[in-house]
This record gives sequence, structure tokens and C-alpha cells, in this order.
Amino acid sequence: TKHITIVGAGLAGSEAALTLADLGFAIHLVEMRPEKQTCVHKTGLCAELVCSNSLKSMKADSAAGMLKAELAALGSHVFAAAQAHAVAAGGALAVDREAFAREVTDRIAAHPNVTLEHAEVCSIEQACKGSDAVVLASGPLTSDALAASLQQLTGVDRMAFYDAAAPIVMADSLDGGKLFRQSRYEDASGDAGDYLNAPFTREEYERFIEELVAAERVIARDFETRDLFQACQPIEEIARKGADAPRFGTLKPVGLTDPATGRRPWAALQLRAEDAHGESYNLVGFQTNLTFPEQRRVFRMIPGLENAEFARYGVMHRNTFINAPQLLTPLLQLRSTVDAEVPVFVAGQLAGTEGYCEAVRSGLHVAFSVASCLRGIDAPKLPAQTAFGALMAYATDPATVDYQPMHVNFGIMEPLPQRIRNKRERYAAYAARGQAALARYREELAACGLLPCAGD
Ligand code: FAD
Repeated sequence: TKHITIVGAGLAGSEAALTLADLGFAIHLVEMRPEKQTCVHKTGLCAELVCSNSLKSMKADSAAGMLKAELAALGSHVFAAAQAHAVAAGGALAVDREAFAREVTDRIAAHPNVTLEHAEVCSIEQACKGSDAVVLASGPLTSDALAASLQQLTGVDRMAFYDAAAPIVMADSLDGGKLFRQSRYEDASGDAGDYLNAPFTREEYERFIEELVAAERVIARDFETRDLFQACQPIEEIARKGADAPRFGTLKPVGLTDPATGRRPWAALQLRAEDAHGESYNLVGFQTNLTFPEQRRVFRMIPGLENAEFARYGVMHRNTFINAPQLLTPLLQLRSTVDAEVPVFVAGQLAGTEGYCEAVRSGLHVAFSVASCLRGIDAPKLPAQTAFGALMAYATDPATVDYQPMHVNFGIMEPLPQRIRNKRERYAAYAARGQAALARYREELAACGLLPCAGD
């Protein structure tokens, strides 16, 4: 029997473990929780959802719905557990998170081919010891030690560690006397009023920037902030490059006229409604790494936000992922280990997919890849017309540049042979084409003995 070590019993790792175990491999699944927690997980259960309990749309002619059809057709254990513990959520699939995680944990505990160990894997070498293949599925919050080890293998510039989100303030705490509602160039666009604008005078701007760059940050060490996403730079990092930098970017006043002065302000922050009712507003482009008290102090210096109540402070997530296009084969194997004694595969968010179902699907995909690799057969080619096939085609294409984790969407799908103007009909055509490709793929998997548990 071949032995496989899987690091991380999250969404991807749990799926990979159960599928490979069904295929007869001996699985050593290593999960560091509950002994060592991440900053967002709360339990020691497998497949714990870290945030929302929604697995998104079930609609057959949406990209998320196509992905779910693929999970069902290919016999995903984790998806079956989600369906078994679904709660009412309109056209979406939402789950009772505890019952869902328990079910996945029980399936793993009950499987004779899986041994679950609760321990931190600190290096790739440790994972490879005694294994015929390794799957790294340690997720966006991969522990520091393992991330450092992986970085040695990938090179420093091929791994990213952070993601950033902007704060949200309550609408009724804003000063309507200072803010004005206007879209840039509103005459031309005709969509007046999508944004609230906070206009700065030159003096106000300079004082604000001074405090912004001096404010206390959560992650203060330069070597850590160096890896921030270029596209997701926190506002204070932008300001540190030069006092005028925000004024030529996020805070640019171009196309705005302050009704109070009849003139273009020196700089302006735009706020966009966060919910349909306009009860809260997002500070556009203000991803930040300031501590919460400092966000409260410094962002209240913005004209109109003097009494702002924060519905959510800006946060910087750890979001560890590798540069998949440069590092992974379409089978999710690290290219550098293709001829190695122990092949190393990567799945889930660490491989650069984004989203719960995407993580589950990548666990399934990696299971087929590992199984075919260890059995010495060629894995059937994943059709690019399926939702996950399109994502993999994009994510593992060396020509893809500036890669950011990605969820399934129609934007990366191979264009249809004929042009269909009507959006609904176009999406239905994508779905029908995907369904046909999926049926063929499923037959190919079954023909090479890779489909242990798919229903009819
Ligand atoms: P995880 O589900 O996180 O599983 C990885 C597992 O590996 C964890 O259990 C962890 O404890 C373990 N581990 C880490 N390091 C080690 C180690 N060295 N040794 C052993 N075990 C280790 N997606 C959505 O679709 N909806 C959302 O609402 C959503 N919210 C998110 C919120 C946050 C804060 C983050 C960071 C991501 C969110 N995502 C969300 C994105 C993503 O879909 C999820 O993070 C998803 O859980 C990723 O699945 P995964 O299997 O890759 O990782």
C-alpha cells in the first residue's frame, strides 16, 4: 500500500483524504488544531468554516452552481456533508457549520484507511518522511514554520502572505454637512450619487497624512509588510511612499466638485454603500494595517468622519498562497518535484484558489492527480469547459501574470463558439457545455478506476 501524507484537515485536505482513502491508499492526515489554532478557526474539527456559512449559489447556470454540479457528479464527500446539513438560504447552499464540520470529522474518523493526527507539520521534509506522496493543504493560515519551509522550495518572491480589507462606517454617524454625494464626472456618466465624498483642504490632507504614516500598525516589521499585495497595498503604506501618493491614487479629487466651494477639493475619500439600504459605507481603497484604536483616531480626522462609528475595522488577513502559474502543473504538483522521490502536491487556498467550494474541488482534483501519479497512469485531462477546469487552466498557465487567488467565474471561461448577447442564455450555454464536458470527464475517470464513490 502506498502512503500519502496530507497536511491540513480543512476543506481541501479533508476531501483529498477521503477520496484517496476510498481509492485504497493509506492516508496520514495531519491537522495542527486544536493543539495549535489559527487566528480564525475555533475548534479542532475538520473542515471548519472560518467565516460565512454560505457555500454560495446553487443555480445551475451560475459559475458557483456549475462547480457544485461538478462536486456532486464526482462524488465529493465534503459536498455531500454540506448537503446533508444545509439550512434555508434561498438559492444558495448554506450549512449548519458545526453539524457540517462534525459530519466531515466523523467520516474521517470512521474511515479505516485514514489516520488523523493532531500535530503541526513544521517542514516539507517532515511531511515527506516515510511517504510516497505529499499533499499540502494547510490553507490561507498555514503555520509560520511550514510557510518558511515552503518558501525555501518556491523562492521568496513566489509566495504571498497577506490580504487587506477596508473599514466600514455607519451611515448615520457621518456628517452630511461636509460629505457630498457625487460620482466622478457625474455629468458624463449619468450615475450621480453612487458615492459619498469626503473633501480635504490641503491643510487637512497634510495633517491627516502625517498622522497616518506615524500611526501604530499591527504588523510593524518591514520584512513582513514587504510581501503585501501590490494591488492591495494598505493606505498607510501608500502614504509612506510619499505624502502625495494617496492624492494621485485612492484620494484623487479628479472629476469631483465640492458643492460647498464650487471647486475641486485638494483630495477626496470616496465612500461606497456596503449594503443595499445604504446603512453602512466602505472607505474605498482604505485597506489598512493600523491597530483598531489608531483607525478610530486617524480616520476620524477625515472631514465628515469626525464622529464615525465603525461597523468593521479594516483588517489584514494572513492569506498564504503560492504563485500557482509559475509553480504548479495542471495536476497541482509542484513542478520542482516532478522527478523527485516524493512528489509534492498543493491544494486549496494555498494553491491559489479562493472560496470554500473551490477548496473542496481542488482537494478532489489533487486526489485524482496523486492517485494517477502513484499508480503510474496518465490522469484524464480536466476539461477547460468545466468551472473548475477553467480555473485550473488559468491558475496553472505559466503565461498568467500577477496571479491573485481566484474563484470560479465566467470571466475566465473559454469563450463560446457562437456569440450570445443575452446574458441569461449565455450563462445557460456555458452551463450546458460544461455539463457535457463533465459527463465525458467523469467517464474517463471511471474508466481508469479513479472514481470510487460517485453516485449515478
Ligand atoms: P483551510 O480550510 O483553512 O484548512 C487548512 C487547515 O490546515 C486548517 O485546518 C489549519 O489548521 C491546518 N494547518 C495549517 N498549517 C498547518 C501545519 N503546519 N500543520 C498541520 N496543519 C496545518 N471563502 C469563502 O468561500 N467564504 C468565506 O466567507 C471565506 N472567508 C474567509 C475568511 C478568512 C479570514 C480567510 C483567511 C479566508 C476565507 N475564505 C472564504 C477563503 C477560503 O475559501 C477558506 O479559507 C477555505 O477554508 C480554504 O480552504 P483550505 O482547505 O485551503 O484551508
